[in-house]
Amino acid sequence: MGEPEGTRAAVDDEWPADPATALRLLVEGNERFITGRRRHPHQDADRRAALAPAQRPFAVLFGCADSRLAAEIIFDQGLGDLFVVRTAGHVVGPEVLGSIEYGVAVLDAPLVVVLGHDSCGAIGAALDSIRSGSVPGGYLRDVVERVVPALVGVRDEALADPDLALREHIRYTVDMLAQRSVVIAQQLAEGRLGIAGLAYRLGEGSVRQVAGRGV
Ligand SMILES: [Zn+2]
Repeated sequence: MGEPEGTRAAVDDEWPADPATALRLLVEGNERFITGRRRHPHQDADRRAALAPAQRPFAVLFGCADSRLAAEIIFDQGLGDLFVVRTAGHVVGPEVLGSIEYGVAVLDAPLVVVLGHDSCGAIGAALDSIRSGSVPGGYLRDVVERVVPALVGVRDEALADPDLALREHIRYTVDMLAQRSVVIAQQLAEGRLGIAGLAYRLGEGSVRQVAGRGV
């Protein structure tokens, strides 16, 4: 934690400085993953050694913790490329916001990706909760209670259409990041940051953008 200024730029001369270029790198990596032409970049000993003094990831990847969403694999990236924050159902709390702010404000990543997916257990549990009026016990309740607000406004549509529920939850999460974090809001306003809400299809391995700010 805490990279001194000046040591980061030497890490990678292909580093994308703007949100659109950063998103394009991720989309291109995902296309290599879908078509079985992965390059496995930045995964060798040279890269490891070059990164040891400092990191400079080009994107903050905030996604669901689902085991099928392994970030560096599905976007064909390597060491030092992505600052990854994942929780079940990509639900947001103070530590999540602080971690994303670190990636954006200290590490200077120009892009935040919110990554959701079909058949998400957390979204399913939230829909069950809305349907039944009950919530699970333990800390699972905290996860469900942070998904439900995204869906109550579109209750009937969300219950009937899982893809709509997913899109709404991703859009809600993107909006929450932009609204709750002063650091993120400021960088968005200055045009230095973009937030892309991406929906991942488990079966195909593909992503599509369903929400965005500045990108
Ligand atoms: Zn999930």
